[in-house]
Amino acid sequence: MLDIDLQSTSCLCGSVKIKATTVNPKFTVCHCETCRSWGGGPFFAVQCGTDVDIDGEEKVSVYQSSPRASRGFCSDCGTHLFYRLNKKGEYNMPVGLFPALKGLDMNMQYFSDKRPDYYCFSNETKEMTEAEIQAYFASQA
Ligand SMILES: [Zn+2]
Ligand SMILES: [Zn+2]
Repeated sequence: MLDIDLQSTSCLCGSVKIKATTVNPKFTVCHCETCRSWGGGPFFAVQCGTDVDIDGEEKVSVYQSSPRASRGFCSDCGTHLFYRLNKKGEYNMPVGLFPALKGLDMNMQYFSDKRPDYYCFSNETKEMTEAEIQAYFASQA
């Protein structure tokens, strides 16, 4: 039987190939304005830690979207590749890049108070408001 590697993926055009050794299938959704501007909707992300191999890095454009984090995308096809925390170097990657991952489960909604009125999910998840997220990061500093 073939051992299909569910944690390897690539952008649409194939210029960038990624292997994430540790992917947490309990994914998060972010409703903040930056994520919704970046992707046109909420950002569905799996946490991949720091153990991420990127092949074709010269094609990855990185945009520093806040003092805390940067966002990477393929400069040829525009596929969103990651949201990376500057300090810890941890990657959050779009869940859509890993569609066959086992146990995918919506676990957390960030910036739940920033979620606009024109959509909502019926999934039962944990939620954090902007104030709760800021308090969390303050406690980590
Ligand atoms: Zn590409
Ligand atoms: Zn966000």
